[in-house]
Amino acid sequence: MRDTAAVEVAGLVKRYGNRAAVDGLDLTVGRGTVTAVLGPNGAGKTTTIETCEGYRRPDAGTVRVLGLDPVADAAALRPRIGVMLQSGGVYPTVRAAEMLRHMAALHARPLDVGALLERLGLDGCGRTPYRRLSGGQQQRLALAMAVVGRPELVFLDEPTAGLDPQARRAAWELVRELRADGVTVVLSTHFMDEAETLADEVAIIDGGRVIARGTPERLCRGGAENTLRFTGRPGLDLGSLLKALPAGTAAAEPAPGVYRLTGTVDPQLLATVTSWCAQNGVLPDGIAVERRTLEDVFLELTGRGLRS
Ligand code: ATP
Repeated sequence: MRDTAAVEVAGLVKRYGNRAAVDGLDLTVGRGTVTAVLGPNGAGKTTTIETCEGYRRPDAGTVRVLGLDPVADAAALRPRIGVMLQSGGVYPTVRAAEMLRHMAALHARPLDVGALLERLGLDGCGRTPYRRLSGGQQQRLALAMAVVGRPELVFLDEPTAGLDPQARRAAWELVRELRADGVTVVLSTHFMDEAETLADEVAIIDGGRVIARGTPERLCRGGAENTLRFTGRPGLDLGSLLKALPAGTAAAEPAPGVYRLTGTVDPQLLATVTSWCAQNGVLPDGIAVERRTLEDVFLELTGRGLRS
């Protein structure tokens, strides 16, 4: 069974009324990898993940998790997977440490509860009732609950939403350790930096479908495309600049005085741009050649930003 994928979703459809929240989605997650499902609000990330967790039944398509059907084989699957829900699932008056100890006791080889609380910065509030925890503390407790049983596969739905930078780094570190221990991680996020930093594979979803997938490196590289950014005085004549540049280069002034060129940004193009600037009395400030980001990729694919 080890050679089967950790998660295999084929042609998944999930409708609410007449509307398909997930609309023919395919996703394969290799064992021992971190896969990020990246997409804007309402793209269908939670619906997909909750279907894999067995909380929702597909209207069409197939879902296999560790080779099993998440609904029919729920009892066999539960002890092998860790689940972090976006919210809820905890009795409001139970204390944080009690809750975690309870979860740990359900598993044969749990992680050390005290150490886990400490590393997620929850050691100071172990005796605090769940409902009195801050949003970020509740979020971290949910993360701890998902991993305490040393699952083979963990689903993390927006694990760092609402966390401060320090807690975010602690959560990222935990994900990296899970991966190093051979745990498969599927996480949803709309933070492109999170996907770029943590994921071996990214599936960009929009409108209930996967619209691009691959390693962050491959998605961002997109051939030889790169971005050159600089600032200068507002309103430069980009038409004149483009005449000096190879066909296929695009230029934009997304904010006054901020310029962005995309295309094959090589040493020759950089030389042409600086020479054009010199001829036009422009001192380009903060000139930088940058890799495309996943945000750029999403924008190119959909014409919208990830947060829109
Ligand atoms: P977010 O980033 O905001 O969490 P998401 O990508 O996780 O978004 P989903 O929560 O899967 O998206 O929602 C996809 C679509 O399905 C949305 O339009 C949402 O309003 C709708 N939807 C989700 N759950 C239900 C439900 N139980 N009943 C009706 N519509 C739903």
